[in-house]
Amino acid sequence: MGAASGGVDETARERLAVYRDALLEWNERFNLTAVKDPDGVDRRLIGDALRLLPAIDGFGAARLVDVGTGAGLPGLVLKIARPDLDVTLIEATGKKVAFLRHAIAMLGLEGVEALHGRAEELGRDPRYRGRYDLATARAVAALPVLVELCLPFLRVGGRALFPKGPELGTEFAEGERAAALVGGRIESAEVLPIGAGEPVTRLVIAAKIRETPYRFPRRSGVPAKEPLGRV
Ligand code: SAH
Repeated sequence: MGAASGGVDETARERLAVYRDALLEWNERFNLTAVKDPDGVDRRLIGDALRLLPAIDGFGAARLVDVGTGAGLPGLVLKIARPDLDVTLIEATGKKVAFLRHAIAMLGLEGVEALHGRAEELGRDPRYRGRYDLATARAVAALPVLVELCLPFLRVGGRALFPKGPELGTEFAEGERAAALVGGRIESAEVLPIGAGEPVTRLVIAAKIRETPYRFPRRSGVPAKEPLGRV
């Protein structure tokens, strides 16, 4: 898997190969991801997820939630790379959750759970609200939507990591205003170091600085339909 799998041990490398093959196999029957070839899965999906490891290692987190994980990106890949992390995967689409549970069982992973549901609802559930050190979300929504969906899960002092394309445009200012409303602050939006063939990624980091007001997240569908932070 080349440079993309830097920072993971032999066991993790083997598990990532098993995960990739299972993903490609299921993808023939169910549309789990648009990436259909082994090299694309290695580079664009697994490689992309592994690029978050320096930020995660630096934070020393115990519990991570991945919102809108799809086929497990980046959350399941991070769990494979860092088995000590306690990981919750949240996904609204049943067939994707079925794949996640299959992959978790096949890999024999413990301390990872796939929840079938919407972030708007699970983020109000006391079992999950305010319980995580880290949240991630990739390719799920614009920044103001992401902060409303993810920050409720974090404890005060926790961080949300959002990999984004290089150009944030108006999303950034909207995300900053939205973060302030839900108890957060955008801390940084740095471009990650890039290896050959890797997409340019801006890693947006949002810190939770106070409790999220009870009215957030709003009910299912509203965060995306009426994003916070618009002026
Ligand atoms: N993170 C994955 C999937 C991106 S596609 C990747 O990078 O490949 C976005 C996924 O988020 C879809 O599978 C969709 O079902 C899920 N999703 C979107 N909004 C959601 C919400 N509010 N709650 C839970 N899952 C959501």
